[in-house]
Amino acid sequence: MAEDFVIRGAQVCLPDGVRTTDIAVADGKIAGIGDGLSARDVVEAEGMLLLSGAIDPHVHYNEPGRTDWEGWATGSLASAAGGASCVFEMPLNAHPPTLDAESFDLKRRAAEASSVVDFGLWGGLTPVNLDKMRELGERGVIGFKAFLSSSGLDDFRRSDRETLRQGMKIAADLGLPVATHAEDEEMVARLAAEAKAAERCGVRDYLASRPIAAEVAAIREACELAGETGCKLYIVHVSCGEGLDVVAEAKKRGVDVTAETCPHYLTFNEDDVEKIGADAKCAPPLRNEATRADMISRVKRGDVDTLGTDHSPCPPSMKQGDDFFAIWGGIMGAQQFIPGLFGAGLDSETVARLTGPNVAARFGLTGRKGSIAVGYDADLLLIDPRRVCEVTASGLLTRHPISAYIGRRFPVSVRNVWVRGTCAWSEQSGRGGATGRLVKGRAAK
Ligand SMILES: [Zn+2]
Repeated sequence: MAEDFVIRGAQVCLPDGVRTTDIAVADGKIAGIGDGLSARDVVEAEGMLLLSGAIDPHVHYNEPGRTDWEGWATGSLASAAGGASCVFEMPLNAHPPTLDAESFDLKRRAAEASSVVDFGLWGGLTPVNLDKMRELGERGVIGFKAFLSSSGLDDFRRSDRETLRQGMKIAADLGLPVATHAEDEEMVARLAAEAKAAERCGVRDYLASRPIAAEVAAIREACELAGETGCKLYIVHVSCGEGLDVVAEAKKRGVDVTAETCPHYLTFNEDDVEKIGADAKCAPPLRNEATRADMISRVKRGDVDTLGTDHSPCPPSMKQGDDFFAIWGGIMGAQQFIPGLFGAGLDSETVARLTGPNVAARFGLTGRKGSIAVGYDADLLLIDPRRVCEVTASGLLTRHPISAYIGRRFPVSVRNVWVRGTCAWSEQSGRGGATGRLVKGRAAK
């Protein structure tokens, strides 16, 4: 059972602004907000920032089946240390992938056994499991993930236009969002084949094979189909302003679409990919400096709805080799989530909104998670804004000490994360006693 306590004197990000006040936690819930609150246990937090624990809507932990890549124990601890109290885990990298009720149950059991943060599970939308989407909805998936380009894994197939249309109809009926990895398959496959045929397999060749035009074309297609089917659409990892423009136009037409971006698109540019190498390979790829700077202004302006890490780990052996196309794509960044966002120059209110209420609203968790308000789960994130944190390989909590962020310094550090009132992570003492629970999506009873 969670201990009751008070967090005293922090600058608290509340739904209506930032205020210095006290927060009381009882029975795992936020029980009171106001000055002069007391309890037997008090966390003195003067000068600290208190946010609702981040909800990271986009992580890959790869368990069951590929725990040599990451796993729930290490992945969720890294997420907690990065400021998250809840994560939504993607359906493709586990084996079996999350394509039916049975695979959902397997993953749920693995997560309940070792996750330190609460978790939602994405189900897959692929050509082979349209008839299983309803059972996934009933089990409680938070939404469905579809790839418009190849996923890189043979057992999680790409959706062609007709599959996506059919899947969106079912998702709309269930009231669940569809997330799309939006890059145009025809364009990226052709460009990759041309580069490989010419034996151009370096960093710049890879970057050139996944242009902004491919991303924009796929976002446009997904928005069109979402409009047609009435499906809630969630575009993951938008990397460029042009992509956000397509989303904004679709919103104006009445399409129910939101855009996510990731800290790495706000932190690194394509020159960094050359410097860092394989650890900074992802898809869509990191863009040029002008695009990175533009993405930061757009996040500040409100063009981006949510932020997720797309923490995408793999073993060191898959991050090696001379052929940049063959190296596994994915940036491991769960542990740098919230510090990385402050490092990109975002203020606490923007960070709080895009990792809290906006995520909760999109996935039907408003009233329970994502804000500091009485009656909400006591998912809390205490940040020390005076303590710089530097990313070192030895400080990484992930299974493999790999991260594009190694050597980076952030202006803030994560002090504590509580999940429903129980410590999940403390900078002083490491892992706490929290155990994660399933957070169900809208279609579950
Ligand atoms: Zn991803």
